[in-house]
Amino acid sequence: MLNLLFPKVCVGCKEQLLKGEELLCLDCIHSLPIAAFHKTGSKMLKDKFYGRFLVKNATTAIYFQKRGLSQELLHNLKYRGRKEISSFFGKWMGAELAEIPEYNEIDIVIPVPLHKQKLKKRGYNQVEGFGKEIALALNVPYRDDVLIKISKTGSQVFKTRILRFETEEVFSIQNLEVIKNKHVLLVDDIITTGATLEKCALQLLKGENVSISIATIATT
Ligand SMILES: [Zn+2]
Repeated sequence: MLNLLFPKVCVGCKEQLLKGEELLCLDCIHSLPIAAFHKTGSKMLKDKFYGRFLVKNATTAIYFQKRGLSQELLHNLKYRGRKEISSFFGKWMGAELAEIPEYNEIDIVIPVPLHKQKLKKRGYNQVEGFGKEIALALNVPYRDDVLIKISKTGSQVFKTRILRFETEEVFSIQNLEVIKNKHVLLVDDIITTGATLEKCALQLLKGENVSISIATIATT
């Protein structure tokens, strides 16, 4: 009934979805700029972290293209409340990673956290669905209580307004025992320079005998 009144439309082309289609129509799915480095074996993402910290494996679902379908998807995910986009990519990637031996060595999935104020404002962490679905497919826990985002107090350094706008991201770690001897899959929505993931990884590596792999929805 609801579907008759408000027919579900494709996030990409806005055409009405057919039975069995979720989120994207088949045409749009076929036009996605797929990266899937876990299948192609591309080291592009892994190489971003060369000399910064050791990454076991790194993969992403799609390439981020400005003014393209990928931008539309990420924009909807982040700013229009369409959190199911995150789960959509998580189910897809989870099913694929479950078939790959290197990713079956993963013990735990941990998301790049949002600051709690941001979380309150948006209502959800945009990478949660992605991480949870991958964890489910790999049959490992998803934990969002290990890595936390904190804000630097204003008194530490005086900054001009412009500098404050680019305020540094600060992450912290808690419940370190959870990741002891674990291979962590660190997940985020999009990777650009890799600076955020690096900061998170450096926190995780404070744990004893921790190794890290990375999975994101998109990469620039
Ligand atoms: Zn479409």
